[in-house]
Amino acid sequence: MKLLIVAALAVAVVGAVALKKGKAPAESNTTAAGPAARAPGESHDAKGAAASTARLPKLLDLGAGKCIPCKMMAPLLEELKKEYAGKMTVEFIDVWQNPDAGKQYGIEMIPTQIFYDAEGKERFRHVGFYGKEDILGKWKELGVDIGGSKPSAGIVRETPVTADTRPRDSVCFMCDDAVNAKTKTLVKGQTEQHLLCSPHCYFIYFSSIAGADPKAEEVKVSVTDWASGSLIPATSASHLYGMDAQGRPTIKAFADKAAAVKEQQISPGNLLAWDVLRSKELATRCAFCDRAVYPEDACGVKFGTTHGHGCCTHCSMGVAARLKQDIEVEAKDGLTGELIRVKTLDGQIASLEPATAVAWFGQKKGPDGKWASAGCFKQGFFVNEANLQKWLDARPAMTGRQITIAQALADKMKLTPEQIAKACKLGECK
Ligand SMILES: [Zn+2]
Ligand SMILES: [Zn+2]
Repeated sequence: MKLLIVAALAVAVVGAVALKKGKAPAESNTTAAGPAARAPGESHDAKGAAASTARLPKLLDLGAGKCIPCKMMAPLLEELKKEYAGKMTVEFIDVWQNPDAGKQYGIEMIPTQIFYDAEGKERFRHVGFYGKEDILGKWKELGVDIGGSKPSAGIVRETPVTADTRPRDSVCFMCDDAVNAKTKTLVKGQTEQHLLCSPHCYFIYFSSIAGADPKAEEVKVSVTDWASGSLIPATSASHLYGMDAQGRPTIKAFADKAAAVKEQQISPGNLLAWDVLRSKELATRCAFCDRAVYPEDACGVKFGTTHGHGCCTHCSMGVAARLKQDIEVEAKDGLTGELIRVKTLDGQIASLEPATAVAWFGQKKGPDGKWASAGCFKQGFFVNEANLQKWLDARPAMTGRQITIAQALADKMKLTPEQIAKACKLGECK
């Protein structure tokens, strides 16, 4: 796809350059450091540029105002310009407005980025959209110091501030929240038993089992009778399906239908049989890991004309990897609910609003001493590092590390289709 865009644009560039052939070099917005400022015909060598350089590494982007990947480069070039002011020069030349500039740099396609070190020596060229993290990574790889590499080291928490001392029989196996005695749900296998906070977490659990058979699983499930507090088989209970103030479904189970009807008078909702409840609960799925999710809890993910969901912020990035498509994500700040918008292009971040947004990668140390993802419930995006810090302050048992949103995307883009198929599946998620 990238090649096609670049190739199609190349025709336009070559055409535009050919049209203006013979004209005097057009004015360009390069500084004296750029070859465009040298006399026509002067060789494009390192020394010529070095003589007039301000002794800063330079990133030169040659593009055009109307080319789509070029437009997507524009905001991140602005960010680099601001963040690395005094450390690196960032320039843009519109080769449709200044076709001679394009010729002098010998580019054939747009956008093209040229990396010059502080001596003015060209070190690297890239053709096509190039993400901010990739640009910063390339400077590092080239061994060119552009100063205090933002994003900073970020927050790392390898040991909990205070240990989680909650008894295991009070914590949900899926979401790790405290179990409400009124909605306690139990899955009893032959060898193991899982405690869940609610029927909803059962459906998340069910959708996290690779190749699960609903009939085989649900005979193991007990829910709590709202009226008596005792455990009853989930499949034969009446389920009062209502809604809370946030629009999230609420599920109350009843052994006795008359008791359910009585509760319905005070707390409106519909009485559902298990089969109907199951189909409702499994209707909305994460477009990356396929887990059941409530839209109210999820990230919005748009791909093409389809609107889907990511069950967590990191899963929402994974949709780009799973579908091999550009996506637009609307995530909520884990602390304040403020909107964070991410657009991707060719598996890289094309735009991020606000630009200060960061990600938390919740991780836990396994018995083998290796760090692994702590699961979808322990991930989040935040509009800035300060919000993340506040969120962590309220979660002293949480461990993991701050990463960039670009890293959250890159972590997903490097997954193989086999790894994606196993993503978030119980016992498979690494
Ligand atoms: Zn739960
Ligand atoms: Zn997911």
